[in-house]
Formats: sequence, structure tokens, C-alpha cells
Amino acid sequence: MIESKVKQTLRKIKLPTNTKILVALSGGKDSAVTAYLLQRFGFKIEGLYIDLRIGKYSEDCLKAVKELCKRLKIKLHVYDIKKEQGKTMQDIWKKIKKKRLNNCAVCGVFKKWILNKTARKFKADKIATGHNLDDEAQTFLMNVFKGSPELSANSGAITKNIKDKKFIPRIKPLFYVFEEDVKKYAIQKKLPFIKGKCRYSQESYRGEVRNFINSLSGKDKKNIMKNFQSFSGKIQKDKKTKMLYCEVCGEPSRGKICKRCVLFRH
Ligand code: SF4
Ligand code: ZN
Repeated sequence: MIESKVKQTLRKIKLPTNTKILVALSGGKDSAVTAYLLQRFGFKIEGLYIDLRIGKYSEDCLKAVKELCKRLKIKLHVYDIKKEQGKTMQDIWKKIKKKRLNNCAVCGVFKKWILNKTARKFKADKIATGHNLDDEAQTFLMNVFKGSPELSANSGAITKNIKDKKFIPRIKPLFYVFEEDVKKYAIQKKLPFIKGKCRYSQESYRGEVRNFINSLSGKDKKNIMKNFQSFSGKIQKDKKTKMLYCEVCGEPSRGKICKRCVLFRH
């Protein structure tokens, strides 16, 4: 079931099997299943683990990722944030504490920046992440509740509306797969993944939305995504994202200075 859904998704986004894909491995079940299935369907993949250096959690995740790559016999790149940027994620959180941003939002900004830059360095054609249907439904609903549904416009099984030589498109092979099915599959295939949660997560609002979504039937969840797709199809025509290059780091950015550099400088 999950295999045919993912196959269909990859067919839909017209991904040739000679595409070189860098899979963002977090140590969790979703990215493990993503790597496993992409490889099973014949894609050339390599793994990337971003070591945020947040103590034991990062160490446990890295251990699971190493085991997975050994089992799949794929190359693993490790990006150590401390080595590369001179600070751990905990240092960064402390530094920008007064900005009252939640930890996950800050991690997200840095992870996206690192993924794009590293994928370019390794000449990957695409970046794959493990986002599943539940994650996407959560994000879409959160944007609706915030009154900014257009923030979801570029989301989909493949990034839309951004074409730039320095931007590596992201794919989400599990976009149409329920979280519980991903979990069952990871267990069935005995893939190594960490069971614990990051204790620094402050996404309480996402947690509330997650609980709400968990209380819905599969049909309701699918309907949320159907609405999301028809909505994003409509606004895509108007919304072509123009990319600039960050004046500080040179990475693609929507503003003169990218979000990562804005955070890093304060
Ligand atoms: Fe960062 Fe949140 Fe993930 Fe923890 S759960 S690593 S704080 S994004
Ligand atoms: Zn920048």
C-alpha cells in the first residue's frame, strides 16, 4: 500500500531514476522510510545528517542514521553545525532568546539553509525529506488558522514556483502517506530509527493541531489535503516566487538578507 502510494507520487512528479537525491536523514522513522523506498525504487541516493549538537538527542539520532546508511549501503554526509558555523544550535537559541522565536522555527530556518547549500555542494538534483501527510495537513491548517494559507503555496510532493540555479528543489515522497502507515512500515522493515522525542521542541501549537488532526478520520485528513491542493493550484498561478541572493551569504533568499543570516547576526 505505502509502496504503491510512494511509487505513484514519484511518477506524478516525473522523477527520472537517474536523479541524484540527497536524503535529509533525521534519525526518525519518516526519513528512514523515505531513504529505504527511494533506494528500493532504483534512485541514486546519499544521506545527509545535520548534527545540530543538541546533546544526547543528536548523538542518538546520528547513531540511528549511521546504522541505516550501513544497512542501505549508502554514503552518509554529516554536517556538524559547530564545526561549520562555530556554534551549536543551543548556542544559537541562547543568542536569539530575546527574539522569542520557538526552537523548532529556528532549527527549521538553519536546516533549510544547510540542506540547500550542502545539496549544491554534492551536486544533488533534488533533496528528499520525510514529511508525511499528517505533517503537511498540520502545516496547512496552521497556516489557515494564522490567516495566511498562501504560505502553503509552494508546498507539495515537489517544491513549486521556485526556479533558480542555486535552489535545489525538495521532494516529499511520503506526501500522501499517513504517519501511522509510515511507522508500521518502518517497524515491519526493521529500519533503525529513534523512538524518543527531542526535549527542546517548543512547538506546542503544532502539538495542539496534531492532536486535533489525530482525532479526525483518515477520510477527513484526506479532505484537508484535497482542499489544500485545490487551493494551492488556484494561487500558484499568481504566486511565482522571485529569488534574490542573500547579501551576506549569497544563498537564495526572498529578501535582501536571508532568514538564517538575520538570525545569526542578532
Ligand atoms: Fe529542533 Fe524542534 Fe527538531 Fe528539536 S524537535 S531538533 S527543537 S526542530
Ligand atoms: Zn544569508
